[in-house]
Amino acid sequence: MRLSQFHLATVKEVPAEAELVSHKLMLRAGMIRKLAAGLYTWTPLGLRVLRKVEAVVREEMDRAGAIEMLMPTVQPRELWEETGRWEKFGGQLLKIADRKAQEFCYAPTAEEVITDFARQELKSYKQLPVNFYQIQTKFRDEIRPRFGVMRAREFLMKDAYSFHLGQDSLAQTYQAMYDAYGRIFTRLGLTFRAVQADTGAIGGNASHEFQVIAESGEDVIAFSDGSDYAANVEKAEALAPAVARPTPSASLSRIDTPKQKTIDEVSAFLKVPATQCVKTLIVKGREGLVALCLRGDHAFNEVKANKLPELPDDIVMASEEEIVAAIGAKPGSIGPVGLPESIPLIVDRSAAVLADFVCGGNTDDTHYTGANWERDARITRVEDIRQVVAGDPSPDGLGTLRIARGIEVGHVFQLGSKYAEAMDATVLDDQGKAQVMLMGCYGIGVSRIVAAAIEQRHDDAGILWPEPMAPWRVAVCMINPKGQAEVTAAAESLYSELAARGVEVVLDDRGLRPGAMFADMELIGIPHRVVVSERGVAAGTLEYRARDAAESRQVTVDELLRLF
Ligand code: ATP
Ligand code: MG
Ligand code: MG
Ligand code: MG
Repeated sequence: MRLSQFHLATVKEVPAEAELVSHKLMLRAGMIRKLAAGLYTWTPLGLRVLRKVEAVVREEMDRAGAIEMLMPTVQPRELWEETGRWEKFGGQLLKIADRKAQEFCYAPTAEEVITDFARQELKSYKQLPVNFYQIQTKFRDEIRPRFGVMRAREFLMKDAYSFHLGQDSLAQTYQAMYDAYGRIFTRLGLTFRAVQADTGAIGGNASHEFQVIAESGEDVIAFSDGSDYAANVEKAEALAPAVARPTPSASLSRIDTPKQKTIDEVSAFLKVPATQCVKTLIVKGREGLVALCLRGDHAFNEVKANKLPELPDDIVMASEEEIVAAIGAKPGSIGPVGLPESIPLIVDRSAAVLADFVCGGNTDDTHYTGANWERDARITRVEDIRQVVAGDPSPDGLGTLRIARGIEVGHVFQLGSKYAEAMDATVLDDQGKAQVMLMGCYGIGVSRIVAAAIEQRHDDAGILWPEPMAPWRVAVCMINPKGQAEVTAAAESLYSELAARGVEVVLDDRGLRPGAMFADMELIGIPHRVVVSERGVAAGTLEYRARDAAESRQVTVDELLRLF
């Protein structure tokens, strides 16, 4: 590729909303452009990186015996009714209607569609096990889209679904996927951990998340320093002794004559669609009475939120002081930080382990879950978990627990019979008897990986791509202000030679000044840079620098070619 014929559009200034280094760098490098909240255009540069990730994922899925297919992103309501998820999935489900008023959703995931496919295609145990996958756009109406493509609303996911007769077969494919994920993230040069994850409402006995270790991660994981034990702290079972350790604080008082608001009133008040308002809670915020909306999902904990039964029809009134006291927050810290205005406290119904009515407050970097509204409040603030859990013995008795933050880039799950049963997906066994299939599902956040990699690998000048993700491996920078034919010829020949060897190379023939050219190449993270200049051509040398090296060095063409 010649940069003069490419659309490279790096930028100097990024909006203040870009908090994470990956978000800033992706914008500055011109990899993405924001269209609307949680919606991003991948520029030609960004797409090159996204495709690299996709390719590694595809190769390893194929190697592990999964079969690629492609399902629609628009899915009929009827299928979601069969599993009950049309209602249960909550506010993340984007519902749409066609001109005939037929209802659909935009796929946040594809269990229903694949199970429908499977019940039609799979008739006999001889066709099992089978593992289908796709790399396809998903949409989730995230309560708080942020961090660019890290938590977008539209994003690219690899999702796989396996079908089995019998638990042993499911466990085998699960292990194969677990291993494939390990290879994928290793090949992509990421530092990660596989951690036990909450199986939530789906039940089943096995689920692991793959967490890229990064201070900016939204997840908190606990791991043992003496064994392989690692778990998302959301998996409260494993950490029950630590997480359930009560922190004394006041209970909230209930007010007997609550002022009930209708969903429509709340919807108008919060300026969010009525479909996202599940229940309301009236609290006195700093500026008088405010309605809190209990949503079917939660910015942090929708997994757990999904597993609680319907909330009681109660409406609770409380003052800010009462909330502050009950959840042990610092006064003022439950203000509308980072949340839509007028939502001072988000209430979730998560932390099922801690029973009924549960609340949580969000401030930047602080999340309260498990504060029980009506009984003794138990605080599991992220920072508290760090202090409470770290140093405890690991549940397997080997070593002590440590805490790290992570970015969830993959999730594997033994679903068991849940979907197949609800949708009557059976095959005939060797006795000719119909048996419900067992399923596994396996997701990877392909677009999120791009951001996660940058979180781990960057410096002041820009991105440091792991080689398999780099948009190009080598940049040939031509410095030729006088337009000398020998310099052009040398750069062109090096470019062709590298390309002929199958090295992905980009020729910077834009005629920029060296400083600007180098800054761009560093910003976009090209792992190897070669400078062809008048002086070098005269001396028979090239100036070579690896992106992560402190200095450049002079090499001959042969020496350079030997590097690739
Ligand atoms: P999170 O906990 O971050 O909300 P999730 O548990 O809801 O993720 P899964 O349903 O497990 O996500 O989906 C599989 C993968 O898709 C996740 O592991 C993650 O890498 C990716 N993913 C999920 N939501 C988003 C999003 N909003 N933006 C980008 N990637 C996402
Ligand atoms: Mg989620
Ligand atoms: Mg998750
Ligand atoms: Mg997940």
